[in-house]
Formats: sequence, C-alpha cells, structure tokens
Amino acid sequence: MTENGFRAEQIDTARPHPARIYDYLLGGKNNYEVDREAGDRLAAAAPEVRLGVRANRDFLRRAVRYVVGGGVRQILDIGTGLPSSPHVHEIAQEMAPDVRVAYVDNDPIVNTYANVLLSGSAATSVALADLRDPRGIVDHPDVRRVIDFDEPVAVLLVAIVHFLTEAEEPGRVVATLRDALPAGSCLVLSHATGDFADRSAAQAVYDKATAPLNLRSHAEIERFFDGFTLVEPGLAQVPFWRPDAPPPTRPGEIGYYGGVARKT
Ligand code: SAH
Repeated sequence: MTENGFRAEQIDTARPHPARIYDYLLGGKNNYEVDREAGDRLAAAAPEVRLGVRANRDFLRRAVRYVVGGGVRQILDIGTGLPSSPHVHEIAQEMAPDVRVAYVDNDPIVNTYANVLLSGSAATSVALADLRDPRGIVDHPDVRRVIDFDEPVAVLLVAIVHFLTEAEEPGRVVATLRDALPAGSCLVLSHATGDFADRSAAQAVYDKATAPLNLRSHAEIERFFDGFTLVEPGLAQVPFWRPDAPPPTRPGEIGYYGGVARKT
C-alpha cells in the first residue's frame, strides 16, 4: 500500500492510460513506453492530435480565467490529468488569490503526482475518485475540505466525458453534478468529436487503453449543458471559444468542442 491509500499493483503499466497518453502528447515526462507507443499511433492516425491537446489546454486556461473573472471562487476540476503547467489553481490564483481548487482523477498515478505537487496549501486538495460516481465526488471529504456547495462552484469536465460510454450514462452523471450546485455555478466542458474528420483510427488506439474514447457530435455534447445557460459563443470548436489570439488557420483539424455555461 502506498501512502496515498492504493496498492502499487493498481498502477497498470502494461496498458496505455488516457492521462499518460495525454501527458505524452503535451510533451510531458510522466508516461511509460506503452503510453508513448499509443501516443505515436494516435499521432500517426490523426497527425493534428498534438495541436488538438494543446488547443484543449488553451481552452481550459481561457475558460478558467473567464469563470474567475465572473466572480467564481471555487473550482472542482474533475479529470485533472497529470500536472501540466500552469496548473488550474495557478491560472485562477493569478487573477484572484482566494480561489480554492479541488482536483479529482481516478488514475492512481495522477493522484500521486497531484498530491505531491498540488495539495501544498489549504486552498487546494486532491481526491482519488471516479466521475462515474458523481455523488461520491460531491461527498468526498477531500473535495468538501475546500469546496462549499452553498457557494458558486465552477465544475471543470475538460477532456474527460469522452471516456464515459453511453452505458455509463454521461448525461445523468453531469446532471447529478449540476443538481449539487447552487445558482451562479458554472460548467466548463470540452469533449472530443469526429465532426471534423474521420477519427476511427484514433478511436482504435484507445480500444487497448484503460478507457475507450467515445466521440460525440455537437448536438450530443450540447445536451450535457441541459439545465445550464451557455455563454457566448456557445459550444464551439475550442480554438474559437473566446480566443485571445487569432485562431489557427486550419482549425478544421482540431477535434474538440468546448463550452462554458452558467446555472441560474
Ligand atoms: N483536464 C485535463 C486532463 C485531461 S486528460 C486537461 O484537459 O488538460 C483526462 C483525464 O481524465 C485523465 O487524467 C484521466 O485519468 C481522467 N479520467 C478518465 N476517466 C475518468 C473517470 N471516470 N473518473 C475520473 N477521472 C477520469
């Protein structure tokens, strides 16, 4: 048992993990040979995939600034990923030092890194929990330590919901989180899509990973915002969501939609 409360054999180095593939594609070092092989196969199948993960990360940064600029002081980041600079609390606290951030991921490796790097202050916490049990996240003591569900919360579901299959009822999962939030709260969500290019080869890479990739259409992803009001420009291909620099000239290749919505 490690000091984080999971068994070392829970760290599966034989199969590629989404968090470690994503880290590799972002240029990170927290990955194993199986993850690098999967990342290379992904990039071979869809050469723009590296641009896509960067564009998604840029969306995350702009969206966090947007919600903090709108006055939200609590962030629940579900599907944190391996620490990738700047971290969400750094982005947020640069604007407002009093922002509190709870990080959640179901990957024990992410949890280990996050505990070392992200839980150094009373304003941040790290929980090992699974999006498929949203109530378990809301009730998790480490989440509750920094998040007060009587005050507005920005829930970040950035590049995670596509790891839920239809059988896992992603719509119900997001609705459960929504129902736990008070008015004034926000949902920041991005999701992989096949709307712009055939992604079946990329999808096949994840068939061997610990979680499958479930591409969804604009209409399907927009439904996750039911009960919220999308802010302008609505659910957009990520480079077009409130860009602070001119969007890339070939955004057609970037297979992520992102949006921010408010609960009224
Ligand atoms: N949000 C970050 C990282 C995205 S990578 C960003 O956009 O930059 C997706 C992350 O979601 C990985 O760290 C993976 O471990 C996590 N994840 C996948 N399925 C999950 C689940 N069911 N519950 C919790 N975390 C999950």
